[in-house]
Amino acid sequence: MLYFSTNRNSEPVSLKEAVIGGLAADGGLYMPVQLPTIPASQFDMVADRSFSETAYDVALEFFRDDIPGRVILDIVEDSFDFPLPLNEVKQGIFSMELYHGPTLAFKDIGARFMSRLMSWLYRNEERELNVVVATSGDTGSAVAAGFHNVEGINVFILFPRAKVSPLQQKQITTWGDNIHAIEVDGSFDDCQKLAKQLLADRELNNTLSVTSANSINIGRLIPQTFYYFYAFSQLKGLRVPVVFSVPSGNFGNITGGIMAMFSGLPVKRFIASININDVFKKFLESGIYKAEKSIETLSNAMDVGDPSNFARLNEMMGGKSAMFRKYMSAYSFTDQATLEGIDKVYRDTGYIMDPHGAVAFLGAEQFLEEQDEPANVVFLETAHPAKFRETINRVIKDYAGLPPQLKAVVDKKEKYHSAGNDIDEIRSFIGEINRISM
Ligand SMILES: *Cc1c(COP(=O)(O)O)cnc(C)c1O
Repeated sequence: MLYFSTNRNSEPVSLKEAVIGGLAADGGLYMPVQLPTIPASQFDMVADRSFSETAYDVALEFFRDDIPGRVILDIVEDSFDFPLPLNEVKQGIFSMELYHGPTLAFKDIGARFMSRLMSWLYRNEERELNVVVATSGDTGSAVAAGFHNVEGINVFILFPRAKVSPLQQKQITTWGDNIHAIEVDGSFDDCQKLAKQLLADRELNNTLSVTSANSINIGRLIPQTFYYFYAFSQLKGLRVPVVFSVPSGNFGNITGGIMAMFSGLPVKRFIASININDVFKKFLESGIYKAEKSIETLSNAMDVGDPSNFARLNEMMGGKSAMFRKYMSAYSFTDQATLEGIDKVYRDTGYIMDPHGAVAFLGAEQFLEEQDEPANVVFLETAHPAKFRETINRVIKDYAGLPPQLKAVVDKKEKYHSAGNDIDEIRSFIGEINRISM
């Protein structure tokens, strides 16, 4: 399978070039030249299969030309050794918990798969590979966990100063070995811009092999199609249409869902549930996409003012806002509404949502209220509530959740490099780690 750039100013490339390159030479994002066609009949048979079995079925469709089936199976089984429970939280509204991986956020799914895919694709190379990743909180630790002690790979995590939760910061800065955390004096958008600049930096790339592990990497995006198929197979007995509500920031999660739909998964609609960073909602309403500065909220992984996956969505929708409106809705919620949602669901049902999942729950609820026909809405729970305990405690006073994955990290010592919002500073740090001066 070949991968083309959404900017259409460079030639299509192989899977290896797309995954190792990260970003296309023309600055665009890679997409498969053609999405696989996965017949619905295939999913009629998979109702009682595990997540990794379903993931393998879908992965084969994407990768069979490029990777031996046995290797795909190994990557899938090694990546997905945790459950993805589905709970009916309220009639017609299900949560799918994507957060039972090692760093307790859904990004483990893409990051674990991609790190294994990348090491396999890179297995015959001489030079070390430098993986650069910008994080608004969860990506960094998921990528670190995926790559920790993988031979021949250095990881650089750019995180915005004082804008990630204390626990998230621990999860980013306590790895050591081949994992290097860099605190940037700027916002997440600044970190993302720096990561893109580093990838496009000729001088750096002539000397070193540099790649990205952000959601811009197609190697992370494809595994984010898998759980949509899995959720669908779990709900198969229920006859009403399936809708997904996805808590969205960079729109990588929901882009995976739309790719699944265009590969044949019969989903009725996708709801982009967002906080007050509502560029996408304004776009659906007006047909005009206009990036904005991001605003801080309680659902900080969604504080994105210029969602990087918009270019991919736009490709799939043929650049037509009518197509976007046919398949997608957007609902935006304030922090106050998010807190009230967490509180109300806990009182009514005992179920505890994190701030991101809560935004997605509210989107699901509002969608059903505005609908005449019944639907099953699956909202994606993207982080364990314990990662946001300070927030949860504002409404659920006695919540003390601390799963073992977090307990392990609390007492570890942090180590990170501090830098300004400055490409030269970061470039020379990467050079230092590679023992060359830049
Ligand atoms: C990253 C993240 C999101 C947003 O996902 P995108 O793919 O960037 O839209 C939502 N919730 C949590 C907990 C996240 O870490």
